[in-house]
Amino acid sequence: MRSIPLLAVEAETIFDDIAAAKQKRRRVRMKAVRAKVLASYQSYEDATPEVGGLSKAVMTTLQKDAMRHAFNVETKPMEALRGDMLKRVAVARCPFCGISESTTLDHYLPKEQYPEFAIFPKNLVPCCSHCNTKKRDRIVDAGTDVRMFLHPCYDIIPDEEFIQVRTRMAENALILSYRVVRPEGMQQQTFLHLRSHFTELGLADRYRLMGLDHLGSQYPSLRRAYGKDADADRVAEKLSELAGDFEDVAGPNYWLAKLYRALSENEDFCDGGFESIKVEKVVASSPP
Ligand SMILES: [Zn+2]
Repeated sequence: MRSIPLLAVEAETIFDDIAAAKQKRRRVRMKAVRAKVLASYQSYEDATPEVGGLSKAVMTTLQKDAMRHAFNVETKPMEALRGDMLKRVAVARCPFCGISESTTLDHYLPKEQYPEFAIFPKNLVPCCSHCNTKKRDRIVDAGTDVRMFLHPCYDIIPDEEFIQVRTRMAENALILSYRVVRPEGMQQQTFLHLRSHFTELGLADRYRLMGLDHLGSQYPSLRRAYGKDADADRVAEKLSELAGDFEDVAGPNYWLAKLYRALSENEDFCDGGFESIKVEKVVASSPP
């Protein structure tokens, strides 16, 4: 979960360029809804980040289809927009999870329900296919009335600690468990919003798995720090330094920052427990 910058493009120009590239029937339908769509863009910008309750533009079925078609069926300007959105280094890693590569564009407000935002750049979030699939077409939780996911361009990620990871050694294995906690003073709505994002995208499991995978690559460096004289303090220092680097760059709630910070405070792990993260070299088996 992290913030990303908006792409500096004119939404109106994007709309006109894509409409101009469509075949006549769909071009005419898009032009017929142009004023409505642009008015909806304005409402979206005025409402951010609380766009979950926006009223839907009134359009005919064919007009809605034309708007979705503008996104789904590539034209040169749509292809260019997709490329421009995804090629930025700042969004290379999925902002919803902070784990995987951004390869798709998510419609923050789903185009099935809000076809007027199908090609609205501010509604398009570069993300990984895993998060895109998990998010589906959901917007607001019916029970709590809270938006279910963070909008990476508009929601501010709090600096207070709301992600925790517990680490413990059990029978020479490292056990990790991530969870979301409510820091003192955080509003209930903010907490429910963060928790929903975390839970619905399955982040506890994904962080645990990717954390263990990531740690494997750190084994040689921790082993060196421990050295011949079994210096647990040096391992703790090394982990704490790495945690600090991640905190500086990605914020205190970044999943790897949390992991390194927690491990630096885990005496068993620092005092040789890190041997459990050693990955045996994989040797490709020769064909029969
Ligand atoms: Zn993701």
